Amino acid sequence: SRSDITYFGAGPSGLPHEVIEDAAQALVNFNNTGLGIAEHSHRSNIATTILNEAKADLASYLDIPDDYEILFMQGGGSGEFSALAYNFVGAWVARKQREIGFDGLNSAVKTDLKLDYIITGSWSQKAAAEAERLFGEEHVNIVADGRKMNDGKFGSIPEESTWKLSKGAAMVYYCDNETVDGVEFPGFPKSLEPGLEGDDGPIVVADMSSNILSRKIPIKNFSAIFFGAQKNLGVTGITVVVIKKSFLPPATSQPSATLMRQLGLPIPPRVFEYETVAKNNSLYNTLSIFDVYVAGRVLKGLLLQHPDKVEGQQAISQQKAQLIYKALEAHPDVYKIVPDKTVRSRMNICFRIEGGDSVEKTFVEEGAALGLTGLKGHRSVGGIRASNYNAVPLEGAEKLAEFIGAFASHRE
Ligand code: PMP
Repeated sequence: SRSDITYFGAGPSGLPHEVIEDAAQALVNFNNTGLGIAEHSHRSNIATTILNEAKADLASYLDIPDDYEILFMQGGGSGEFSALAYNFVGAWVARKQREIGFDGLNSAVKTDLKLDYIITGSWSQKAAAEAERLFGEEHVNIVADGRKMNDGKFGSIPEESTWKLSKGAAMVYYCDNETVDGVEFPGFPKSLEPGLEGDDGPIVVADMSSNILSRKIPIKNFSAIFFGAQKNLGVTGITVVVIKKSFLPPATSQPSATLMRQLGLPIPPRVFEYETVAKNNSLYNTLSIFDVYVAGRVLKGLLLQHPDKVEGQQAISQQKAQLIYKALEAHPDVYKIVPDKTVRSRMNICFRIEGGDSVEKTFVEEGAALGLTGLKGHRSVGGIRASNYNAVPLEGAEKLAEFIGAFASHRE
């Protein structure tokens, strides 16, 4: 049964039992309406209430200021790789046109349009590759690449002093927590902080798919953040974008399709256009209200559990991660933690076991026999990955730490 299992899968992840029980009931008969939540219209009052409450609870839990909009979108994190590039290039063009008018726009695009990417793992690498595919390599600047310092493998974040940021980039993109490689930014990068008064600083955008709701974020420093629901927020199917309203109408409108064509730049499909999604309160097209409902239940649960909101959850995440890392560190001859100590993810704990694939296979099997499941590393890198998302209880982390110790003792 569910209670026998602690699931360490990387996404979809486990969700709190009470949320799943509630969601199962809501799927059959929502609030005694005789219809399930996935059957009600996305334009019903029921749906609007669910949507607005989820937005309000997310804003409360993460302390999102009023000058940010929350969008529920589809297409996953991967869809946002494209959507961000489209929308922030559009915003860049709109800004340039205001500054210099139409005449110099063509040459400004050629010489100045840059999308900056800090690559620290396979997801930021994919995001940069998508920008290159959509806009061409000449418009994509790789600020730093975590592989170079670590034998061609991910596992570190290059010193900020070595970063090569473009001036006036359409956006600077990074992935706050690399799910596959177990690399997490320890905090907001100093060199991306807003400048002195009057200087808004760089346009910073971050992928927070795998560590959202687990630590306090200085939202004000970001122009946008996004996260798929399927780790800490809920079930697969919705992706949340939190974007500064100054990138939406009336402050900024996307340039017309005609202008973008004249400049040789692509425009986003309607469903990926943030201003369209914002204008329609995320209901431009049919949204899965079931997914929003589940996210809402997760948020209500977190708010109930933590009077100090995300900071309460942050302390628990830290405590669970420390337990597991400590157990690994106790046996350095058996376990090798993949990322550098300073950038170790609290959410995706990646390590190798001495003896390689066959020993790792035994580890996964013995763990599963004890109810510790989902420990296999990503197929692209192998090894072991324990995903320590919010729904993994403290006792689950303790159980894993104990197993890590026992498994090593048998091999020493
Ligand atoms: N970013 C991160 C950090 C991820 O972990 C993932 C998926 N695991 C993605 C983006 C891609 O998300 P999706 O599968 O929803 O496209």
